[in-house]
Amino acid sequence: MTAPDPVSRRRTFAIISHPDAGKTTLTEKLLLFGGAIALAGEVRAKANRRQTRSDWMGIERERGISVVTSVMTFEYGGCVFNLLDTPGHEDFSEDTYRTLTAVDSAVMVIDAAKGIEARTRKLFEVCRLRDIPIVTFINKLDRESRDPFDLLDEIEKTLALDTAPITWPLGSGRDFAGVYDLRHDVVRRLEAADAPLKVTGPNDPALTALLPPLEAQTIQDQVELARAALKPFDKQAFLEGHLTPVLFGSALRTFGVRDLIDALAEFAPPPRGLEAASRHVDPRESKMSGFVFKIQANMDPNHRDRIAFVRVSSGKLVRGMKAKLVRTGKNLALNAPQFFFAQDRHVADEAYAGDVVGIPNHGTLRIGDTLTEGEDLVFRGVPSFAPEILRRVKISDAMRAKKLREALQQMAEEGVVQLFLPNDGSNAIVGVVGALQLDVLVERLAAEYGLVVALETSRFELARWVSAENPAELEKFSRAYPTSIAVDLDGAPVYLAASAWDLRYEQEKWPEITFADIKDYQ
Ligand code: GDP
Repeated sequence: MTAPDPVSRRRTFAIISHPDAGKTTLTEKLLLFGGAIALAGEVRAKANRRQTRSDWMGIERERGISVVTSVMTFEYGGCVFNLLDTPGHEDFSEDTYRTLTAVDSAVMVIDAAKGIEARTRKLFEVCRLRDIPIVTFINKLDRESRDPFDLLDEIEKTLALDTAPITWPLGSGRDFAGVYDLRHDVVRRLEAADAPLKVTGPNDPALTALLPPLEAQTIQDQVELARAALKPFDKQAFLEGHLTPVLFGSALRTFGVRDLIDALAEFAPPPRGLEAASRHVDPRESKMSGFVFKIQANMDPNHRDRIAFVRVSSGKLVRGMKAKLVRTGKNLALNAPQFFFAQDRHVADEAYAGDVVGIPNHGTLRIGDTLTEGEDLVFRGVPSFAPEILRRVKISDAMRAKKLREALQQMAEEGVVQLFLPNDGSNAIVGVVGALQLDVLVERLAAEYGLVVALETSRFELARWVSAENPAELEKFSRAYPTSIAVDLDGAPVYLAASAWDLRYEQEKWPEITFADIKDYQ
């Protein structure tokens, strides 16, 4: 038997969740299973460093740590897992969204007492754009939880996503006894997770004995119902993003985590092929290609070096190779790529499709850039997401306005903020999805460009990319609102709305205009 090829073994995924659902705890536990113990501590170190707003050193430190935790690679059950970190809490930003364009699957972590929360829903929608398959982990069963049928119903209704439970919880809170593996009729006990108990079915007396007497029958009836009434797992529907397998557990108690990692190994897809403008690119092609989905500025603000995170899409990326940056046509020597292998650093001089490599550069690489071995491939790339916070940038020293423009352009190319230049010539507006990005902008403008700026609230709350099939209609719209139209970094027109109400009103009034909250990278 031949060993599976490097591409088939890879599982590149991210965790999507609302803050406090247990992403950090689960990440740690997954890494423990994969043997990457040293890294697990650093995940926690990062989580403890949340109070970093307006603390420049704190932001710097956080960035330093997150270079390490941006990609966590570990091996388990014959698979190589790349877990891409999705910044949450205070450091929630566009990077969180962009990272989801570089994964092949995602784990959705839900707090069993709370169900679907706002951030989970938003991140789910970003996954849906690319039909990314989702495995659901319902966490914190060791606390009082909502009824499992209720939780599944909520997933189906609010996300329009079919569910197929793989395991079923046996009680919750203080009475949480473990889970029932619905496919194999095996019970895994909380107190002896590594000693599975084979049963004849939900009514096996061995199971009854594990449950609190007063509730045993109810729980067993539930398992019976779950087995009989719910959808079986359908791999095709999962791969197309229409159905999610659901597992229950407690990350804190390291329970259900092995089920989850087994499910990823079994169901989650290996690296997918990508559509370039000219053709389909298969991950097993021999020639290397990849795209930049995230840029991170380095620790030392005096050196403008950046790390570009490249997701390899095909072939093999090897230290020292020359790559073509398709946007400029120039060659780039990959002399010091950083490989993220937690366990085995010495085999880490090459990366395959699905892997992520950090490439140090001085601003040469931008988000969405494609690297190849010579072919002019352009991937559909990384979209822009409408910002949730807009601020006008004011500078007291008017003489430095030009320098500010350049600096803002640089920051926007790097993906720190989005930049909107109003058509009426008024001050630039920056947009972000997470407030910490604004602090980073102000601090970096001061530290790297010597520019002291103030960010002021503007009368605008929302930004939408506008387009129309008939250019004359767009022209008419733009003329009607000269003070509300701006252009983004690529010159695409953007409508700035004062409120959601205002936006809805204009949408109704201008039915031929499309107002988009996502712009695909061109
Ligand atoms: P994150 O914000 O999603 O990364 O969540 P954390 O992993 O930091 O967890 C938030 C809080 O929930 C912490 O206090 C964790 O100890 C706790 N927590 C996480 N998983 C579980 C669990 O399975 N059971 C219980 N009881 N608490 C948990």
